[in-house]
Amino acid sequence: MRAVDIIIKKREKGELTGEEIKFFVDSFTRGETPDYQVAAWAMAVLLNGMTPRETTDLTLAMAHSGEILDLSNVVDIAVDKHSTGGVGDKTTFVVLPVVSACGLPVGKMSGRGLGFSGGTLDKIESIPGYRVDLTTDEFKHQLKEFGIVLTGQSLDLAPADGKLYALRDVTGTVDSISLIASSIMSKKIAAGAQAILLDVKVGLGAFMEDLTKARALSKLMVDIGNQAGRQVVTLLSDMNQPLGAAVGNSLELIEAIESLHGDGPVDFREHCLNVSAQMLMLGKRVPNLEYGRRMAETVIASGMAFEKFRTLVGAQSGDVSFVDKPQKLPRAKFTETVKAKRNGYLSRVHARIIGEAAVALGAGRARKNDPVDHAVGFVVHRKVGDYVEQDQPIFTIYANDETKLAVARLEVSTAFGWSDQPVPPLPLFYT
Ligand code: URA
Repeated sequence: MRAVDIIIKKREKGELTGEEIKFFVDSFTRGETPDYQVAAWAMAVLLNGMTPRETTDLTLAMAHSGEILDLSNVVDIAVDKHSTGGVGDKTTFVVLPVVSACGLPVGKMSGRGLGFSGGTLDKIESIPGYRVDLTTDEFKHQLKEFGIVLTGQSLDLAPADGKLYALRDVTGTVDSISLIASSIMSKKIAAGAQAILLDVKVGLGAFMEDLTKARALSKLMVDIGNQAGRQVVTLLSDMNQPLGAAVGNSLELIEAIESLHGDGPVDFREHCLNVSAQMLMLGKRVPNLEYGRRMAETVIASGMAFEKFRTLVGAQSGDVSFVDKPQKLPRAKFTETVKAKRNGYLSRVHARIIGEAAVALGAGRARKNDPVDHAVGFVVHRKVGDYVEQDQPIFTIYANDETKLAVARLEVSTAFGWSDQPVPPLPLFYT
């Protein structure tokens, strides 16, 4: 078998056999198929799609490209969560400590930025010293000892996804239902999750812009999970406008820490309480969602969730003083607050424009090994449906370069749509 023939078959809209998919995944995992062939193949998949059977084969081949973690002697039930990616999504920093403080141990492997969507690892690395490269043994040990882990995908787990993910980020091959579903599910299966909560984002700042596509992605992931013997629950959540206010690595971390103190934007808090309640249900810690939500509220109010976050950062060698004093986190040299030029109701706060502008400021990558700038990004002060008066602040730019700041001012101003008539607020979730 040759990689080039598999690329050509997909280019010609052929259906790949399980054998061909396994050969391709194994050969690029071993480094025998070079990046340019993998990128060409990913583009052919993005353009021509895969059948559900091909997607399941791809998922299982990627999950089995490394070790499959067995957490049965570490926790009573391994529950995991994953978001399909969006702008301002810092949910993990709140939900993990909340559910862990509620008595549900949770170990999560997260990813880096992908296209316009920020990455949990890039955000947490704003804290000096924080290790995202735990070994499998360290992962298990920390999960048992502290009930909370947040690390990167170890080289032993789904390494094929690790390679493909980094290539997709910089080759315009992110927004394919098959590639997203297989990327997420291969990691979750390899990381030993028995029950998985998937937060499927839908809207202008999500990889799935409409509900039909988001539902198709949900169904595909549920089916793949069930075939692999895992329980999968999905939520459909809005990603037309950024979640919360902050977009950018350390800015988002600061907002998450504020939320762990019971402050922070209302929409973000609501989102986190809902996701936490769902996870507590999956982990059989609560009898219903209402109970889960109240438990989540209680551990935030008591400070237990914040204390868990400190424990997490300390356990992974991060400097906890940055959690206690978030003002120590990286700060941009230049800030500018942009004000409304008119009175009116906000009809649109375009999440993708803001996410792309954050990448252009340096918060994400243009090439595979580019470093990210932890300090830059935006704080968006208003939501769709708000009435705004002329000269009221609408967003603040955090930049380390004055030219980039000027570009960001122009770009992000186009993200805001205005109406003279009242506009209903956007829902947080869809059914
Ligand atoms: N999250 C992932 O892990 N992979 C994707 O492709 C998209 C979101």
